[in-house]
Amino acid sequence: MTIALHGLGISRGIAIGPAHIIERGQLDIPEYELEPEQVGDEARRLQEAVLVAQEQLRAIRQHIPAGTTAEIAALIDAHILMLDDTALIHEPLRLIREERRNAEWALKAQRDALVRAFEEMDDAYLRTRRDDVVHVVNRVQRILLRHSPLRHEQPDSRLTGYIIFADDLTPADTVLMQHQGIAAFVTEYGGPTSHTSILARSLGIPAIVGLHQAHLYIRDEDPIIVDGSRGVVLVDPDDASLAFYQSRREQDQRYYSGLIRLKGAPACTRDGVRIQLQANVELPRDFDQVLQVGADGIGLYRTEFLFMNRATPPDEEEQYRNYLHAVQVLGGLPVTIRTLDLGADKETDDRRPGPLAANPALGLRAVRLCLQEPALFRPQLRAILRASAAGDIRLMIPMLSNLHEVEQVLDIIEDIKRELSGAGIEFNPGLPVGGMIEVPAAAVCADMFARRLDFLSIGTNDLIQYTMAIDRVNDEVNYLYDPLHPAVLRLVHGTIAAGLAAGIPVAMCGEMAGDIRYVRLLLALGLRSFSVHPASLLEVKQLIMESEMTSLQDLAQRALAAPAGANVAAILEEFRLPAAATANSTTS
Ligand code: PEP
Ligand code: MG
Repeated sequence: MTIALHGLGISRGIAIGPAHIIERGQLDIPEYELEPEQVGDEARRLQEAVLVAQEQLRAIRQHIPAGTTAEIAALIDAHILMLDDTALIHEPLRLIREERRNAEWALKAQRDALVRAFEEMDDAYLRTRRDDVVHVVNRVQRILLRHSPLRHEQPDSRLTGYIIFADDLTPADTVLMQHQGIAAFVTEYGGPTSHTSILARSLGIPAIVGLHQAHLYIRDEDPIIVDGSRGVVLVDPDDASLAFYQSRREQDQRYYSGLIRLKGAPACTRDGVRIQLQANVELPRDFDQVLQVGADGIGLYRTEFLFMNRATPPDEEEQYRNYLHAVQVLGGLPVTIRTLDLGADKETDDRRPGPLAANPALGLRAVRLCLQEPALFRPQLRAILRASAAGDIRLMIPMLSNLHEVEQVLDIIEDIKRELSGAGIEFNPGLPVGGMIEVPAAAVCADMFARRLDFLSIGTNDLIQYTMAIDRVNDEVNYLYDPLHPAVLRLVHGTIAAGLAAGIPVAMCGEMAGDIRYVRLLLALGLRSFSVHPASLLEVKQLIMESEMTSLQDLAQRALAAPAGANVAAILEEFRLPAAATANSTTS
C-alpha cells in the first residue's frame, strides 16, 4: 500500500529509487564482568577493534572520490591519529585487566571521562575536540558490537540512485554522499535555510527536511518517490503514481536543460533595465558551475566551507591559493569573498558552540568571532588582500550589528595594508569593502552602514531568522519563516533605499533572491543585484528577462502596505505572468 508522507521540500526535483536508512542513534552498550581467564582475550579484542577501525578509516581515505574537498581527508587523518593515542585506549585496557570489565563498557567509561574533561576546558578549541572522541569511539564500538560500518563511509559503497533517510545530515555528509551518486535525501530535522539545505540546492540534490518519524514508515530498500518541490515522499508507490512522477521528472529535466540557452544573454528586463545576476558558492568545485551558467561573477563566496571537516584551519598560504584560483577561474569577473562566518549551524570540527551558548545563532559567530580571534581573522584578510592584486576581488563582512565592528575591521585592513606594503607584497589598495545586512539592527541603520562601506548585500536567511526570532535550523518554528512578512519587506526596502541614497550598490545574497516567487517583488522594491546559487540562476534570469519594470510600478507600494505575508502572496499572484507569455518570451 502506498503511504504519503509530508515534510518541507527544500531542494526541488523528483527522485525515484530505493531507500537507504542511516542510523546514527545511540548504540546499546552491554555491561558485564569477565571471568579471570577471559581478561587476556578481551584486551586483545579491544586492541584488534582499534586496528580494524584504523583500517576502515584508511580505506575510506584512499577511496575518497576525486573532487571531494581536501578537508574531508584531513578529518579522516585526524581520526586515524586519535586511534593511535594511548590516552584513548590505555584506561579501557586497565579496566579490562584490573577490574574485569568488558571492552565496550570500558571504552564507554573512558569516552565519558574524556568528554567531561574536554567540556571543562577553558580553551574553546580543545573543548570542542570532544565530538571527535565521540565519533572515533563510536566506530570502535560498532566493530566490537559487530555492527556494519555506515554505508556512505564504506570505500566501495555504491549509493548510486539511493534515497537517503537520516535524522539529520551535516554539510560534510551531504558532500560525500553526493559523490556516491545519491538520488535524494530526506531528514527528520532541519530548516530550509540551514547550510545542509543550501548545499543540497547548490548540488542539485532533491531534498526534504522536517519529515518527523520517517523511520517508523520506511525500511531499507523500500521503493520511494521524493518530490523535493512539494515536500512529498511516497513509500511503495503504485503503478499510476510511478508513471505520473516519471513523466513529471522528464518534463522537469527538459525544462531545466532548456534554460541553458539563456546562458549568454544579459539579465535585462524587457524595458532594458540591466540586472546584476551573480552566483553564491560554497565549495571550490562550484566555480566551474558559475561559468557554466554565465553568472556575472560571484556575489557570495562562503569561505567557512574551507574550514570544515578538518582538524586545523587553513593557513594564509592555503587561503591565498584558493582565492587566487577563484579569481583566475572567473577570468576578470568580480569575486565577492565573505570573511569567515563560523558559528551557529556552521560548525567546524574544532569549533562548536561552547556549553554556555544556549542560543548559538545569537552568539559569538561571524565577524564577532573574527574580531575576538585575530589569529583566525588576520591570515584570511592578508590572503584576500594578496589575492586582490590578481583580479576583481571584493571583501564582504558578515553579521554586522554596529558601526564599531565596521571601524574595527577597516582598521585591521589598513594595518595589514601597511604590513604588506612594508614587505613589498602587492595588493589592490582600493579593495572594495562591503557589509552584509542580516541583523535587523543593521537594516534599520542601513543608511549609516551605507555611508561607511563600498557596498551592501542583504542576507535574508539571517535577516528573517533574527527579525522573526526563529532559529533557522529549528523545524518546529519553520512555519514562521516568511520572506513576505511586512517587517522583512520594510527592512529589505529600507536597505535598498539607503544604498541608493548613498550611491552604493545593494545586492541580495540570501535564499530569497533565488526563489522565483519573489524575483518580481524584489525588482519592484528596487533591487538591481541578485546573488543566487548557480542551480537556480538561469531560472531567475528567465524571470528577469520576462519582466517589465513599468508594469511592476504599483507592486512595491501595494506589497509594502499589505498587513501580512499572505496578502503579499495574493498580490504577487496578480502579477504573475500567464504561462503562455512565459513560453513566448523565453523562446524569443
Ligand atoms: C544569509 O544569511 O542570508 C546569508 C547569505 O548568509 P548565510 O546563509 O551563509 O548565513
Ligand atoms: Mg548569514
